[in-house]
Amino acid sequence: MGSMVVTTEAAATAAVQEALRASSVELRPIAPGVLFGADDAEAASLARHLPGVLAVHRHAPAWPLASRLLAPSSPVDVGGVVFGGRGIAVIAGPCAVEGAAQLELVGSDVVRAGAHALRGGAFKPRTSPYSFQGLGHDGLALLAAWKARHPGVPVVTEVLDTRQVEAVAAVADMLQIGARNMQNSALLCAVAERGKPVLLKRGFGNTAAELLHSAEYLLSRGNEAVVLCERGIRTLEPGTRFTLDVGAVAWLKQRTRLPVIVDPSHAAGVSDLVTPLALAGIAAGADGLMVEVHDDPAQARSDGDQALLLDEFTALLDTLAPVAAAVGRSLGRPASSVSSNPVAA
Ligand code: PEP
Ligand code: MN
Repeated sequence: MGSMVVTTEAAATAAVQEALRASSVELRPIAPGVLFGADDAEAASLARHLPGVLAVHRHAPAWPLASRLLAPSSPVDVGGVVFGGRGIAVIAGPCAVEGAAQLELVGSDVVRAGAHALRGGAFKPRTSPYSFQGLGHDGLALLAAWKARHPGVPVVTEVLDTRQVEAVAAVADMLQIGARNMQNSALLCAVAERGKPVLLKRGFGNTAAELLHSAEYLLSRGNEAVVLCERGIRTLEPGTRFTLDVGAVAWLKQRTRLPVIVDPSHAAGVSDLVTPLALAGIAAGADGLMVEVHDDPAQARSDGDQALLLDEFTALLDTLAPVAAAVGRSLGRPASSVSSNPVAA
């Protein structure tokens, strides 16, 4: 049957909803000036004539706020780094925060090489309970100290649980919701309400449409700063850890106004496949990358096999520049100083 969206002047939303209800048409407000419900020809013609109605969109997608219905694109500014603009935004850093020296070394190296934002997990979602689970609150403190030494470089770190939202948001410029939590609606709601930019990763067993439904949780709770991330899905192919779904990147870019980035590291699982997957992601239309880098991958406490050395990360960016240019994007670098940060607004 499909869905219908009615946009109204902000002050008229409640009156329009009431007028439609009087004719047994139920539409619910999902954002200021936006009513949403089942598609219906009669309801549509009724709505069109109500005062304060701006537009009636029939056959709307089930994720209207994430769709391109209301805007063709909505760039997200994270501490001055823009996702979804002309520039390719690059987040890089270790899988996990392992200690002050490691974070300082890898963090300052990736920024010097051209990364625009730092990643590093303090709370790690691991398959085995016996694996390193991250430094937790101590890891957050190390990220906070790193930030103080590198003003202007935004920090992205994962939040695993609603109970961690406050502590993570106090440090992070962008809260990462990982693949395993993509459909954790309680976490989505808690993170949305905190109001900070969100990096929402696609679950490895979820469709791209389900990713947009999850984004809708954030958007309908008033958080507009949402960036999506394709990080690979489970397929029958054992050669890579996950299969980077470049088709979904193109599919998403045609259907959502939200920026979409690619994480080639978790998809590849091994470092020598990271660069080709990064290139494929950008060629498919991705707005940015998230890449794992480590100073000593053999000693990494998580995901060492897929970590790039600094030289390899630098080479990745070199290789990427002409690919970005070929699809009408730029890869400004290096971000050696904050004021020359090329993705800065
Ligand atoms: C990560 O980026 O640190 C991570 C755990 O990734 P994912 O949620 O995609 O597995
Ligand atoms: Mn990792």
